[in-house]
Amino acid sequence: MITQKVDKVLALQAKDLIMKANDIVITAHVSPDGDAVGSTLAMCHYLSAMGKKATVVLPNAFPAFFKWMPGAREIVVFKDNRRNAINAINQADLIICQDFNELKRLGEEGMPAVVRDTKCKKLMIDHHLNPEPFADVTISYPQMSSACELLYRVMQIWNGGLSVDVNVAMCIYTGMMTDTGAFSYNSNDPDIYYIIAELIKAGIDKDEIHRNVFNNYTADRYRMMGYALTKMEIIPEYGTSIITMSRAELNNFNYRKGDTEGFVNMPLSIKGVFFSAFLKEEDNLIKVSLRSQGDFPCNIVASENFGGGGHLNASGGEAHGEQLEDVAQRLRDALPRYKEYFDKEMAKLAD
Ligand code: 5GP
Ligand code: MN
Repeated sequence: MITQKVDKVLALQAKDLIMKANDIVITAHVSPDGDAVGSTLAMCHYLSAMGKKATVVLPNAFPAFFKWMPGAREIVVFKDNRRNAINAINQADLIICQDFNELKRLGEEGMPAVVRDTKCKKLMIDHHLNPEPFADVTISYPQMSSACELLYRVMQIWNGGLSVDVNVAMCIYTGMMTDTGAFSYNSNDPDIYYIIAELIKAGIDKDEIHRNVFNNYTADRYRMMGYALTKMEIIPEYGTSIITMSRAELNNFNYRKGDTEGFVNMPLSIKGVFFSAFLKEEDNLIKVSLRSQGDFPCNIVASENFGGGGHLNASGGEAHGEQLEDVAQRLRDALPRYKEYFDKEMAKLAD
C-alpha cells in the first residue's frame, strides 16, 4: 500500500465537481512534456470511462514521440486549431488544469484569457510551488515527482483503492517516467515504485513505453545533440554548463518540436557540473531551461532572471526582446549572486 499523502476531503471535493459536470476540458502547460500530455490523457480516459464528454486542449503542439499514447490524436491544439479549442473551452462546464500552477503558463496565444474568462468551474491538480488561486478546488502537492503521480493518488481515493485501466495506466506511467528522467532524479519516494507495480499489474508494458519515448528520435536530432555538446560551455568555478542554440543552428539540423528535449540534462553527467542551462531561440523569445543537482535552487535563478519558475532541480523561464548571446551573458553575469549555493555544492564534491 502507498502512504496516503493526498487530502481525502480535497480529492472528494474534486470528485464532486466532476460528478456535477458533463462536458469537461482538460488542459496543461505550454510546450507540453510527457507529464502534461500523460496526465491530461490519463484524466481524459478516466472521465470517458465514467461516461463524461472529455476533451484535452493543449496550448501548442507536443513532441511527435508522444503520438503513440492512447488518445493523443484526439488532442485539440489551441495554437493550430483555435476555433475548435475555444468552442470546447466555452462549452465546458468544468476545466481541469493539470501540471501547471498559473494561467499564464497556458502560453502566449490568448489561451490564458479564454480560460480565465469562462464562467465554468475549475479544478487544479498540480505539483508546482505557489499555485495561483484561480480554481474552485486546488489540489497542489509540490513534493510529488509528477502531476501523473499525484493524479494516480487522487484516482486511488476516487476508486476506493482500486487500480486504474490500462489506458489510464499507460499515460500515467509516461508522465512519471519523463518527469523523473526515467527515475533517475526526484525519485526516491518508495511509493513511486509501488505505483509502478500497480501500473504493471494494470497491464502496461513499461519497457515498451520507455522505447516509445526515448528510442524514437531522428538521426538529425542526434547530430544536433553532438553539435550542442561540442559547443557546450563549462564554467568550472561555478560548476555550471551553458548551451545556446540559435534558430539558424536548429534549422541546420531540421529542428522539430521535442528534438532538444533532454539536452539540458546531459551536462549534469559531467563531474563537477551541478547547474546546467540550455538557451534556445524560439520565434519571439529565448526559452531558458535550467537543471541542477543537489540543493542548488535553479527555480530561484529562473524566477529572478527569466520571469519563470519551476522545481528546485528543474525550472525554466523566458527572455523577450533580447538576443540569444545577451541572455547567455546575463546568466553568466548572474552566477556570482548564487555563490553561496555553488559553494555548498562544491563542498559536497570535495568530500
Ligand atoms: P523545461 O525546461 O522542461 O521546459 O521545464 C522544466 C520545468 O520548469 C517545467 O516543468 C516547469 O515547472 C518549469 N518551467 C519551465 N518554463 C517555465 C516558465 O516559463 N515559467 C514557469 N513558471 N515555469 C517554467
Ligand atoms: Mn510535471
